[in-house]
Amino acid sequence: MVTPTANPTANLAPIGRLTVAGLGPGALAQITPEVATALQDATDVVGYLPYVVRAQALLHQAGADSAVRLHASDNRVELERAQQALALAAQGRRVVVVSSGDPGVFAMAAAVFEAMENAPPAQAAAWQALDVQVLPGITAMLAAAARAGAPLGHDFCCINLSDNLKPWPVIAKRVQLAAEADFAMAFYNPRSVSRPEGFVRLLALLRTHCEPQRLVVFARAVSTPDEQLRVCTLAEAQPEMADMRTVVLVGNSTTRRVGRFTYTPRFYGLPTESPGPSPSPAASFTPGNTP
Ligand code: SAH
Repeated sequence: MVTPTANPTANLAPIGRLTVAGLGPGALAQITPEVATALQDATDVVGYLPYVVRAQALLHQAGADSAVRLHASDNRVELERAQQALALAAQGRRVVVVSSGDPGVFAMAAAVFEAMENAPPAQAAAWQALDVQVLPGITAMLAAAARAGAPLGHDFCCINLSDNLKPWPVIAKRVQLAAEADFAMAFYNPRSVSRPEGFVRLLALLRTHCEPQRLVVFARAVSTPDEQLRVCTLAEAQPEMADMRTVVLVGNSTTRRVGRFTYTPRFYGLPTESPGPSPSPAASFTPGNTP
């Protein structure tokens, strides 16, 4: 007797998809095509309200906003938002969690994996089986650096000044060691209304390790209509020059100005004059050291 072959997928829960996408610093033109496609294919968009609004604007521009469900939430509820997104995806929906900039830089990608790791036991297997993708975006420091010239043109590091998630002594140690190692530095979340003193302490700390002429770029709301770029020396830098929409770039000891641009030379500890006429492109190619 021949028994009918069972459909092997009939009893399985639908496999949802969770995409964690970076919307870039502000302008719709700085959203990658990959992220735009994921948004257009989404059933649900989850995120902090201003980013959901930005995603909606992109969908509207593409004429694709009618069917998608929007789930906007408050700034400080990253973990709950990540759990909500995982739960929706586990129901079989195509969910996009939006972050500004890059989702892996002080943003939702880590929160999603944290929620997955701490899933309620009944959900753990389903959440880990989801098709999860993290799609990169243009992070604030790179958008800001591009506006200024090339202040991150040599080795640099990037530090989150929010002490909600780590204590000040950890921040202070990282800043001190980065300054001693002469890294250029990018500071995210520099100064909020609820913790104005952290950035004051940061400037004081930088002044003990760096010379007064060290260049500092305050880049506010880059690629939005409110964009402001201000370059000054460490001696001139004032706490009020930063807020939560600002990323602060501090050059290394070789960072300089040329015309209206700020840049950090590629050469360090070597003669800084022009390296002379370039050899042919083929002859000058060094793996891992391409421009
Ligand atoms: N994931 C984001 C960073 C989130 S933390 C990214 O990759 O850019 C939020 C901080 O990012 C802000 O406090 C600010 O320091 C910085 N930031 C985000 N967008 C910015 C913009 N358009 N201009 C300047 N700084 C920005």
